[in-house]
Amino acid sequence: MASDPSSADARPARSQGAPPDAPLGGPFDVLVVGGGAAGLWAAGTAAARGRRVLLLEKNARVGVKILASGGGHCNVTTTLSGPALLDAFGRDGGRFLATSLRRLPPAAVRARLDALGVATKEGPLEKVWPVSMRARDVADALLRRATAAGARVATGLACVDVLRDGAGFLVRTSGGDARAPKVVVAVGGRSYPRTGTTGDGYPWLEALGHAIVRTVPALVPLVVETPWVRALAGIAEADARVSVEAGGRTLADRRRPLLFTHTGLSGPGPMDVSRWFERCAPWERPTLHVDLLPDVAEDAVRAALTAAVAARPADRIARCLPPSFPARLAESLCAHVGVPPDRRAAETSKAERHALVLATKRLTLPVAGTRGYDFAEVTAGGVALPEVDPATMESRLVPGLHVVGELLDVDGPIGGFNFQAAFATGEAAGLAV
Ligand SMILES: Cc1cc2nc3c(=O)[nH]c(=O)nc-3n(C[C@H](O)[C@H](O)[C@H](O)COP(=O)(O)OP(=O)(O)OC[C@H]3O[C@@H](n4cnc5c(N)ncnc54)[C@H](O)[C@@H]3O)c2cc1C
Repeated sequence: MASDPSSADARPARSQGAPPDAPLGGPFDVLVVGGGAAGLWAAGTAAARGRRVLLLEKNARVGVKILASGGGHCNVTTTLSGPALLDAFGRDGGRFLATSLRRLPPAAVRARLDALGVATKEGPLEKVWPVSMRARDVADALLRRATAAGARVATGLACVDVLRDGAGFLVRTSGGDARAPKVVVAVGGRSYPRTGTTGDGYPWLEALGHAIVRTVPALVPLVVETPWVRALAGIAEADARVSVEAGGRTLADRRRPLLFTHTGLSGPGPMDVSRWFERCAPWERPTLHVDLLPDVAEDAVRAALTAAVAARPADRIARCLPPSFPARLAESLCAHVGVPPDRRAAETSKAERHALVLATKRLTLPVAGTRGYDFAEVTAGGVALPEVDPATMESRLVPGLHVVGELLDVDGPIGGFNFQAAFATGEAAGLAV
C-alpha cells in the first residue's frame, strides 16, 4: 500500500474539502486512526450510533497488540471496581478516568464481550481473561463489533499526519487522504514498537497544539547487572513485595510475583514499579528493595532462622533459610551477604544471621535501568490530561479531535487495567463523535 502521501496530496478534490479520495471511499463522519483496543472500541460504539466510520490501521490486521497480550491469552480487564479501580491509575489518572470508567466499568466490558460470544472468567490477582484463554477471540470480537455496526476498516494504511481541514480534519495516509468532521486518534504509545506502535501520534498532536508529558517505558523488566542476580534466571517468587525509594521517599510499593531473569528482574512486581527507574533523574538514585517473605514479620524470620540453626547446628546455613526458597536462591543470598552457603549453621555469627534476615526481608538490588520500549507493555506519559475532556475524550484545544487509549498520559499496572482504560476512553469518544 506504500505510496507517496505528498503526491497524493496534490489531487484537487482534497483542497475543496470534498469527500475522501478512492481507495478510502466516503463520505465519513468519523475517522478513527489506529485499530487497537481503544480505536476498535471507539469505532464500534460510534458506528452503532449511526456514524459513518472509517478506521485506519497501519498493520495488515487490527488488534496486533491484543494478540500479543497476556502471553497470548489477553488479560482483558480486572475484577476491581470503584475507588480501588481508580486508585490503580494514580491520582491524576484515576481522576481523569473516573467518568469514563463509571460509564464503562469492567463489569460492562465483560457483559459486552459476553454478548459478542467471548465469555470471561476471573483469575488470580484480580485478573479477568477470556474463558477460551485466546487473545484472538477478543481481537476478532472487537473487529466484528465494529464492522457489524457498519464501520469500514482499512488495514495496511499508515497515517502520516492529522491536520485541521476547515471545520473538520484531513488524515493523510500511505494510501491516500481522508476527510471527516471528527477524528479519533488511537495510535497507542511507543511501547513494543514491533507491534506497530512507534509513537506516531505525538508529533501530530503537538503540531495541533497539545502538550505531551514526557513519555517513558513502563511495565518493563528491570536490568540488574549483578552476576548473582542474573545467575538466578528462571527462579520465580510467587509472593514478593518490591518498593522503590528515592530521596528518602517511597515512590512505589507493590506486592506481586517476581521473576529472576538473565537480564535482571521481571514479573508483575518489578514491572509495575519500573517506571520510576525511567522517571527519576540519575542523581535521585532510585533504589529497589525486595521483601521475599512479605507475609512474615522480620522478627518472625529471625526467630525461625535462630530455631533452625539451634535444631540443625551441623546443617549448611543455606538450608536454614525459609524452606520455601529454592536452594539456588538461598545459596545466593548467603553468598551475597558474605556467608559461605555451606558453612555449618552453628558456625555462623549473630551478625551474619542478622545479615541473612535483612537479605530476606530488605534486599536492596542495584537497578541499572529498564529494558526500554522494546520490552515495555505500556508507555507512561503522553497527551496532557488537562487538555482533554474526560467525559468525551475531546480535545479542549481542537474541537472535533478526540484522543483515546495509551496515547493519553494515563496508564495502569499489570492486571487488565490498560485494556480497561483503552475500552473506557474509546467508549467515551465513540459516544461523543
Ligand atoms: C506484550 C504486551 C502484553 C500486554 N498485555 C496486556 C494485558 O494482558 N492486559 C492489559 O490490560 N494490557 C496489556 N498490555 C497493554 C495493552 O496492550 C495496551 O495498553 C493497549 O493495547 C493500548 O490500547 P490502544 O488502543 O491505546 O493502543 P494499541 O493497542 O497499541 O493500538 C494502537 C494501534 O494503532 C496502530 N497505529 C500506530 N500508528 C499508526 C499509524 N501511523 N497509522 C495507522 N495505525 C497506526 C497500531 O498498529 C495499533 O494497532 C500489553 C502490552 C504488551 C506490549
